[in-house]
Amino acid sequence: MRKKKPIAVKNKTIDQSRRKFIGNVAGLGAASLLSPTIANAAMSNNVHELSSSVSGKVISRSDTDFELWRKGLVWQAAKPERSPDLIVQANSAEDVIASVNYARKKGLKVIAKSGGHSICGSFLRDDGLLLNMLKMRKVTVDPETQTATAEPGAWGPTLLNALEPHGLGFPVARGGSVSIGGFLMGGGLGFNPNTWRIACFSILGADVVTADGKLITVNEKQHADIYWAVRGAGPGFFGVVTKYYLRAYPLPQAIRTSQYIHPLSEHAKVTGALEKLVPESDHKLELILLLTGNPDKQAVANGAPKQVCLVNVNAYGDSEEESRKLLSTVAFSPLGDKPLAKKEYEVTNLKIMTGDTGSSFPRGRMATEGVWSNSISPVITSLIERMEKAVTPVTTISIRLLGNANLPDEAAFSLIGSTNILSVLTWQDEKDDDNIAEWMRGTMKTLEPYSLGHYINNEDVVTYPKRNNASFSEKSWLRLRKLRKQYDPEGVFHDYYGISDS
Ligand SMILES: Cc1cc2nc3c(=O)[nH]c(=O)nc-3n(C[C@H](O)[C@H](O)[C@H](O)COP(=O)(O)OP(=O)(O)OC[C@H]3O[C@@H](n4cnc5c(N)ncnc54)[C@H](O)[C@@H]3O)c2cc1C
Repeated sequence: MRKKKPIAVKNKTIDQSRRKFIGNVAGLGAASLLSPTIANAAMSNNVHELSSSVSGKVISRSDTDFELWRKGLVWQAAKPERSPDLIVQANSAEDVIASVNYARKKGLKVIAKSGGHSICGSFLRDDGLLLNMLKMRKVTVDPETQTATAEPGAWGPTLLNALEPHGLGFPVARGGSVSIGGFLMGGGLGFNPNTWRIACFSILGADVVTADGKLITVNEKQHADIYWAVRGAGPGFFGVVTKYYLRAYPLPQAIRTSQYIHPLSEHAKVTGALEKLVPESDHKLELILLLTGNPDKQAVANGAPKQVCLVNVNAYGDSEEESRKLLSTVAFSPLGDKPLAKKEYEVTNLKIMTGDTGSSFPRGRMATEGVWSNSISPVITSLIERMEKAVTPVTTISIRLLGNANLPDEAAFSLIGSTNILSVLTWQDEKDDDNIAEWMRGTMKTLEPYSLGHYINNEDVVTYPKRNNASFSEKSWLRLRKLRKQYDPEGVFHDYYGISDS
């Protein structure tokens, strides 16, 4: 067990309830309540020591704008109360090394944060040093080898923009402001998933700062077990990635998309059609069913159903002809038969599909939870009732029909199903939090009989720490626990939230 050295910033005398109270004290200056003047002075000295060894900004609890920085780390509007002692805005791998060395010396636990999209704010931990990697977002491309390097703060579109002139693409996230740092670390369910697969399997290597403050390159040949862990460990990885080495892919030349909307009451027709289409579909076809609000507000005002089954179909073909042929299998299925609305064979590309989070994801307080499953019709049928009981109008249950549930390689990312089901709820008012949580609990209970486990990137692993383990095969979880002990014996890095071997 690692022995902590005393440090003024840690304020070890503060218990959780007092922390919560302090967290509730609105914003600025709350940090100064934590510590008497003497402790603050000691903290400034400590921070000065760190500030002089990193090029990026260091923000400590004693800074009056600390609370603004802390809250700004979290992408969504609901800001957890948990708080690190120090935030370091890393500009370089050297900043990361210096911060890890400093933290180890002072007994501060370290965690990295890239885009801040973890819905439960997995990177916000009480105590310790948070490394904000968002400013590290350099991308390079080598068209000859069809590879790229990307720093963890790089947003999906940053990578796509660099690859596109070379006719290359990558399975980035759908949300335009999702950084690749956390996305790849937890797996990455991106575009063209049946061909490009889960994105972390396109990691060829990574530069990692380890618990002893060394910068190492991990890949198939060097530090192979850390390379294994980088590909999917999620928010319990025992290191900080400062750069990914990625395989890129020839960009499909003629991506086309169709959309079919049917009333929720016609779910049996929709799921029946999808159940038949999925096993027959080409790996270049992507099928996504959303149980969601009717996007046509005018039609709703005129009496159309408020909730619908919305099927998005993307064909990643290399010619107009190929993509049309792929999409026509859907057009001539029952999905194409008397929908409320449809769009067919529309031209699109990865950048359009990524959109920006402002338009594709409504902003506000957000909750996401879900499961991997192999079921289609039975699970969707059972979810209809949950939609009817929705407590916020911005309720979507996304069902991504992958078809292929095999994993291409041995990696920490080790649990998958042919169907990824995810409830995505957005609301504005904090007073609705309890209702939302209750709806989510009911929905997760409904999903239980169909669940194979969870996808760690989408889970609330803070409220439900057991979903950490339940996002991996048993064998992979045990290996992750073993590797953590081996590579971070003193516990320099925060473990998975709520998980500890001691
Ligand atoms: C609007 C929106 C759209 C999304 N779309 C998709 C999607 O299409 N597909 C999908 O699979 N997921 C999607 N997600 C989920 C997303 O993949 C996860 O939230 C992911 O963690 C976000 O990456 P991030 O860089 O913002 O992670 P952060 O929230 O910054 O970090 C999450 C965790 O990752 C770890 N981590 C981050 N950076 C590093 C690093 N450099 N080194 C070591 N560990 C690190 C930390 O432990 C941290 O706690 C979406 C989320 C949102 C909010």
